[in-house]
Amino acid sequence: MNKEKSEEIFRRLSIAIPAPKTELNHNSVFELLIAVILSAQATDKGVNIATAKLYPVANTPSAILALGIEGLERYIKTIGLYHSKAKNVLATCERLIEVYGGEVPRTREALESLPGVGRKTANVILNTAFGEPTIAVDTHIFRVGNRTGLGRGKTPLAVENKLMKIVPKAYMKDAHHLLILHGRYTCVARKPKCDECVILDLCEFKGKVVA
Ligand code: SF4
Repeated sequence: MNKEKSEEIFRRLSIAIPAPKTELNHNSVFELLIAVILSAQATDKGVNIATAKLYPVANTPSAILALGIEGLERYIKTIGLYHSKAKNVLATCERLIEVYGGEVPRTREALESLPGVGRKTANVILNTAFGEPTIAVDTHIFRVGNRTGLGRGKTPLAVENKLMKIVPKAYMKDAHHLLILHGRYTCVARKPKCDECVILDLCEFKGKVVA
């Protein structure tokens, strides 16, 4: 993969995906943070169903803390790993109040100090909420990076490091969502829709599925 090819890939993806945004519903940075914590190994759709009921009742650190563990679990029990996620959400709310004045911090270090927030979640918040040029390598980006040749690697961090080098500056801010949405709807896990893929001729995947 070279820079010219990468440039053309992102040019085409940004035309095919004109609104590269998160599909997690939120109306504040705090709501986004909690949704991202809840979304680990769960679908955005499932998280949106839960937060549609939770956020009208509690969408601040103090309001969620006031629900307590059982109260919070009632809203999120349809989401996988809900018990440990509820514990992390409450501990994160506590820390946001105690250390960050109830606000979501803007630095990677501070974000990663929150319970339930690892590098991937921090990258999502930095990119989606604060417009930083970060790429959070989830299962979709890991697959698309490895298939296309944009970022081959055995670990999410290895893929992230490759992508940070190859993604053209102009597309850096949107790259995260362009790749996720491409992976979610076109370069799907089981049978990629190569026939309708706008980067078919540029993709380096040997197992392309073409009729
Ligand atoms: S050509 Fe196929 S494998 Fe390559 S990016 Fe497109 S959908 Fe994925």
